[in-house]
Amino acid sequence: KNLTNKFLEKILSITNAIEVKNLVKTYGDVYALKNVDLNIADGEYFVLLGPSGGGKTTLLRSIGGFIRPDSGTVDIKGKNVDDLPPDKRPTSMVFQGFALFPHMSVSENIGYGLKLQSIEKDIIETKVSRMMDLVGLTGLSKRKPHELSGGQQQRVQLARALILENDVLLLDEPLSALDAQLRKDMCIELKRLQKTVGISFVHVTHNQEEAMSVADRIAIIADGEMIEQGTPKEIYSNPRKKFTAEFIGEKNIFNGKILEFTKEKIIVDIDGANIEVANNNYNISKSQKVSLSIKSESIQITKDKDTKPENQKNSIKGNVSEITFLGQFVRYLVLLNSGQEIQVRSYEEVNYINLNDAVKLSWKIEDFLLHES
Ligand code: ADP
Ligand code: MG
Repeated sequence: KNLTNKFLEKILSITNAIEVKNLVKTYGDVYALKNVDLNIADGEYFVLLGPSGGGKTTLLRSIGGFIRPDSGTVDIKGKNVDDLPPDKRPTSMVFQGFALFPHMSVSENIGYGLKLQSIEKDIIETKVSRMMDLVGLTGLSKRKPHELSGGQQQRVQLARALILENDVLLLDEPLSALDAQLRKDMCIELKRLQKTVGISFVHVTHNQEEAMSVADRIAIIADGEMIEQGTPKEIYSNPRKKFTAEFIGEKNIFNGKILEFTKEKIIVDIDGANIEVANNNYNISKSQKVSLSIKSESIQITKDKDTKPENQKNSIKGNVSEITFLGQFVRYLVLLNSGQEIQVRSYEEVNYINLNDAVKLSWKIEDFLLHES
């Protein structure tokens, strides 16, 4: 019956799982959140991504009811929850670095929340066992936390939160205690788990790779502000803000000013060099300060003298200042006449290019992206 209700709710859902409006939280004169708006859909895997101190935990805890914001509202499943304590909200939380109960077994840890609700013992046992299968802990019910690996402890935490069958799971840096390889594996499992249970996950991390690999949608948060939101592909391939481009690791970022533009293209002045950019419906004005970026793999590198005529337009000259072989690709650093350095990533080693050589870099007009500063 419960399942049928959940299913009906899902296909009839007209409300967001979470709706945050104009949230403000201050600590003294520090703004941890500045007028943050956020909508998270039902069944969405949503990631809050940003640098440390940006306000991610404050936002997550405000949704869970552990922090009372100064102003603004939080609605969950269409109901306002501003006056509800955490345990009366339809959310469960996996806290950052929050340890398991050391003296309790795996199954006791997972069933603890249900025991507090005075639920019958055999119902708890059934649910715990189902939950252990779901998160991949089958056969480990009698173990104590110290007899588990880091990844297994993390699974216990997940099971302990999911068993409460709430509408939303909030996860604060859930993988930060794990080493890099395990984190990658757990990302795949978390995503699979979320699709299986079908509820919304809100996952906080400062790690962009982790965010990209789990998220349906990502919000970039820094200095208490919502910088931008988008799918992993949008955030990676077309970041609208310079901050986002920098945060996801773009190396080739240039500050400039708009000289002129048409509906098709924009001319940007970067230290005296005029760069053409495709006009991707940007909201811009003449003389506006902007920044440009280009991915290192979108740049062709050739020796200055053997550049073909069709490459003349979207190109710039420089000298090779570093060549690094990195296994799957070769990275060239090229010093431009302006004094700026640009990174080029080539999947084939261009044998005849050596250190200090004069080279020409060229690209397709659509490969340069424009960002608001
Ligand atoms: P994040 O999770 O993105 O690292 P937080 O939400 O923890 O960021 O913190 C946002 C800002 O609020 C930071 O400047 C932090 O120092 C400040 N802050 C968070 N909690 C408190 C607190 N209890 N007292 C004072 N300042 C706090
Ligand atoms: Mg935090």
